[in-house]
Amino acid sequence: MHKTINRLSRFFILFFILSLLVGCTPTELIKKQQFVLGTLGDISVYAPEKKANKAIDLAYDRIGEIENLMSTSIRGSDVYKANQEAGKTAVKINPTTMNVILKSIDYYETTKRTFNIGLGSLIELWDIMSDNPRVPADQEIERAKQHIDLGKLEVSKEDGTIFIKDPEMLLDLGGIAKGYAVDEAIRVLKENKIKSGIVNLGGDIYVLGTKPDGSPWKVGINNPEIGANNPIASIAVSDKSVLTSGNYERFFIEEDTVYHHIIDPETGRPADSGLISVTIVSDSCMDADVLATSVLILGVEEGLDLIEDQAGVEGLLITEDKQIYVSSGLRDEVNIIDNSFKILN
Ligand code: AMP
Ligand code: MG
Repeated sequence: MHKTINRLSRFFILFFILSLLVGCTPTELIKKQQFVLGTLGDISVYAPEKKANKAIDLAYDRIGEIENLMSTSIRGSDVYKANQEAGKTAVKINPTTMNVILKSIDYYETTKRTFNIGLGSLIELWDIMSDNPRVPADQEIERAKQHIDLGKLEVSKEDGTIFIKDPEMLLDLGGIAKGYAVDEAIRVLKENKIKSGIVNLGGDIYVLGTKPDGSPWKVGINNPEIGANNPIASIAVSDKSVLTSGNYERFFIEEDTVYHHIIDPETGRPADSGLISVTIVSDSCMDADVLATSVLILGVEEGLDLIEDQAGVEGLLITEDKQIYVSSGLRDEVNIIDNSFKILN
């Protein structure tokens, strides 16, 4: 009898402590938006307000540091300095930038040279991010294409310097900096003991942990058709990056042709592979950023091969005729919402 009461009371004490713990579990989502890296950033976390605000502010500080190092337009950034000194001299850069540049050089090879951080002269020529982009003349494109050979970027790890040997070549880290910034923001959130949340920098997303009820996050995939803004599918994930690159994100239209912001180095023109949207699911948002750009250029077949070759990386590809291709490891996680889009494989 005594024993039973003892057990019972222990059970109740345990139950009481557990319910206190559950009571402490924050259910409120704290969200802060800020304009960073040319886009409206959104960081949302589940945590007590003070802790959440501090962690989010520190994450934005880190994103700001990355922007100040890697922007092409901020005077004094590493990229700005290297571009200013192209053809003249080597410049000392921050170890963070060095790290991203070395990764980019690796990706240049793994992506069959479709991902190229030396495309600055072509990107500047098209100027799609500006208020008045234009279609360049063929000769202008041919000329700029002579100055995109990443072999002309000399990197000295020991000295911490880079030197663009071609005076007309320009670096542009726009295809990797945002993904890297998301990974770094997540690192800062984790350092500050945040267990659950989302970092979203203009579609470059990482979902940390699970929702407070333990269920996975559901990340929506936008309808890539221009003018549409409904989700066409959702992917259930936790502790993953889900990043979508599409030709509908930044573009201009001239004489019924859509010119978007991802440039195929081979043609010197916006990628025209038949794909209009590529979603990559991966542990690293930086990897996802690069791979999404590259797959959009490579097209369905080579793109899927590239995804299947990378351990831990999955993808969802959408063609201009509303066909969806999903990599082998992702099929069970995808839920189609708009049935005019069909999974083909
Ligand atoms: P995102 O905004 O993540 O889709 O990345 C597109 C950005 O990457 C563009 O705005 C350019 O700055 C850059 N970019 C465009 N084409 C390429 C390419 N083929 N390789 C590397 N970076 C690129
Ligand atoms: Mg990208």
